[in-house]
Amino acid sequence: MNDAPLPFALPDVGEDEVQAVATAIRSGWLSSGPEVKGFEGDFAQLCGEGVHAISVNSATAGLHLALEATGIRPGDEVLVPTWTFTATAEVVRYLGAEPILVDVDPQTLNIDLEAAEALVTPRTRAIMPVHFAGLPVSPSALRDFAGRHALKVVEDAAHALPAAAEGELVGSGVSDATVFSFYATKTITTGEGGMVVTRSAELAERVRIMRLHGISRDAFDRYRSTKPSWQYDVVAPGYKYNLTDPAAAMGRVQLPRARQMRDRRAEIARTYDEAFGGLDLQLPAPGDEDTLHAWHLYVLRLPAGQDRNLFIEDLAARGIGTSVHFIPLHLQPYWRDRAGLRPEQYPVASGEFERVVSLPAFSSMTDEQVERVITAVKGNRGQ
Ligand SMILES: *Cc1c(COP(=O)(O)O)cnc(C)c1O
Repeated sequence: MNDAPLPFALPDVGEDEVQAVATAIRSGWLSSGPEVKGFEGDFAQLCGEGVHAISVNSATAGLHLALEATGIRPGDEVLVPTWTFTATAEVVRYLGAEPILVDVDPQTLNIDLEAAEALVTPRTRAIMPVHFAGLPVSPSALRDFAGRHALKVVEDAAHALPAAAEGELVGSGVSDATVFSFYATKTITTGEGGMVVTRSAELAERVRIMRLHGISRDAFDRYRSTKPSWQYDVVAPGYKYNLTDPAAAMGRVQLPRARQMRDRRAEIARTYDEAFGGLDLQLPAPGDEDTLHAWHLYVLRLPAGQDRNLFIEDLAARGIGTSVHFIPLHLQPYWRDRAGLRPEQYPVASGEFERVVSLPAFSSMTDEQVERVITAVKGNRGQ
């Protein structure tokens, strides 16, 4: 029995990861080398035939590169759910374009495509769905919406590994690009890292070039026979977004564990659902029969009008760490003031924000820790 406070999230990293990183360091490849190539190969294989996978040093970098490669320019508009982390919207600004914030579905907290419909203008070029908590946005609805408005689709899949809906794995390539995060507390981790996946060879090539200073490998390879080995071609002002080999080595151990870690989180979610079913709390949306929910987050909702912050303080006093996902972007000073946004423009997100709290639900939690969370929540509800 351990009475130390339970943190909201911890990475699930073991001795195999430590060994893989140590081996990578001892190999002498400290930057991008064979482990990066291997990780990308492993990841592409998992996504399916014909998918390109390009690793990066964060999902934020990957979202930036993916959006750049779709041709987003200053003055363009990109539809982004207000219910997300600021990274999804900030990369639109990196390119001088405008994120147009969209309200969310009250059940899933995913982008509301009907609300998005009303925000489409002649300048709208792309949509960035976020598969919140690991529950995918309907791929057929997304395809239909993007098709009708001729929009590019860059999926923020930071929560969605592994996840599927309507029989389609997130990352299997229905959109222009899908971006995963390997941040410390995401579904798999490389410490910091991310992956861009796409079925477009052209988009993949642009992402690859811009990931590393705008140096064209193609141009380099084409002339390699006639040029000395130190020679290369810079074809654009690119970025420094490459993943390192020690990080990729950790990813190569984590990736085969992704499904098992997801299944453990799903088991924790089921245990919570059963324990909280009789309480005055709204449980997270489960998804349909044909949905694979990644269960990156377990988000409870308190009855309207109750003080969520007091709930968080009470759980902390009972030794349980919690969090809030997300503070909607339209309430953040930069995004609010930039577009003159008011809470009433986002009735669902503004209301739900007051009620949400995320419970610990990471794969390395023990059954005893899960029970501690249940006891604390029940205690708070007077049970
Ligand atoms: C974590 C997160 C990101 C950013 O991922 P990084 O790898 O830290 O850059 C982007 N979008 C969402 C929804 C996230 O939760």
